[in-house]
Amino acid sequence: MHSITAISDRTQHYLEIEEKYGAHNYHPLPVVLNKGEGVFVWDVDGKRYYDFLSGYSAVNQGHCHPAIVASFIEQSRKLTLVSRAFHSDLLGEYALFITKYFGYDKVLPMNTGVEAVETAIKLARRWGYQVKGIAENKAKIIVCANNFHGRTSTVISFSTDPSSFSKFGPYMPGFIVIPYNDLEALAKALQDKEVAGFLMEPIQGEAGVVVPDAGYLQKAKQYCEDAKVLFIADEIQTGLCRTGKMLACDHESVRPDILLLGKALSGGMLPVSAVLADDAIMLTIQPGEHGSTYGGNPLACKVAITALKVLQEEKMSENAHAMGELFRMELQKIQSPLIKSIRGKGLLNAIVIDHRNKEAAWEVCLAMKNNGLLAKPTHGDKIRFAPPLLINHDQVIESVGIIENSLTAIQ
Ligand code: PLP
Repeated sequence: MHSITAISDRTQHYLEIEEKYGAHNYHPLPVVLNKGEGVFVWDVDGKRYYDFLSGYSAVNQGHCHPAIVASFIEQSRKLTLVSRAFHSDLLGEYALFITKYFGYDKVLPMNTGVEAVETAIKLARRWGYQVKGIAENKAKIIVCANNFHGRTSTVISFSTDPSSFSKFGPYMPGFIVIPYNDLEALAKALQDKEVAGFLMEPIQGEAGVVVPDAGYLQKAKQYCEDAKVLFIADEIQTGLCRTGKMLACDHESVRPDILLLGKALSGGMLPVSAVLADDAIMLTIQPGEHGSTYGGNPLACKVAITALKVLQEEKMSENAHAMGELFRMELQKIQSPLIKSIRGKGLLNAIVIDHRNKEAAWEVCLAMKNNGLLAKPTHGDKIRFAPPLLINHDQVIESVGIIENSLTAIQ
């Protein structure tokens, strides 16, 4: 067994007030952070950690990236929110920038990731009625088993994870669940003429970094095109250089009909999400039919432009690709009976822990915390490793050393 370092009074204080006054909808590691810079975070006792979660991939550019912080401060002194009742000088500039960046006609700005997903569902249904000619209230959307698209009542209606949906019904109808990475099931589901969209993650992040077979994305897109169904890629976790390309769909040269971005779109500064699509889809929504008070606010626009520039200027997809290869290669060298498998792309990786001991993955994470690296188990037996994308060679080597020592300590 690993030795759990004693929790300081200071840390204990923060754990206690959060437990007492905060809702119990998360189960965090017992670490209280108050500073971040690049690939590192520090706890309230001054101990430094490698951050291998990166705010669930929201901090791809690294903690408190100086250029993004500068944009945030500059804009927050000038103008932060006008609502969409008025124009700001930044919304148009941002829309121009992001649509050219990703190659779409239009953007619809939202805040959290799940709002982008909700927007895509509404857009696909509206397109289904207006363009495809589906009878009203009949539109269906195909989704995949073990998906994670967020926490709203519509989105959990098509979750297959009981901890997401149990006792939150009644559920929103109109979704067809098929297995992930199963083209035959997709082809069969697409025979239904009432299908408007196929919503999918190019790699299933929360499910434990499940990478589909090579060719899946390209074929799935082709099948959708043939069936006149919108291919909707949720790249909220996989996008923005995380997997070694700007988008995970770029690995197979697939251009989604609707592209969803969030998380690292602000580099961890504030919730910023985006829905990108061409006019034939986007213009099916008219004034007053969808929106959000904060969506497209000037602060978000300014920060997102800088966050996107940083990704390109600092060649983060190239670094994620190279450091991801190195990370997996070094992980393969670890001789531990606890590692059942290693998988991932770029810097979105996971190990599957042999789960004869149900607590093993949690204990490994506690041991890593004690040794100076933060990661979190997902679905019990998987540990995701997703550091900020500016991690360098020596830091990868040191991190793998910490992971190895932690596995050895608890096996
Ligand atoms: N979609 C995917 C693929 C995600 O991984 C997440 C969050 O982890 C979401 C949507 C929801 O994003 P948010 O938590 O910002 O609502």
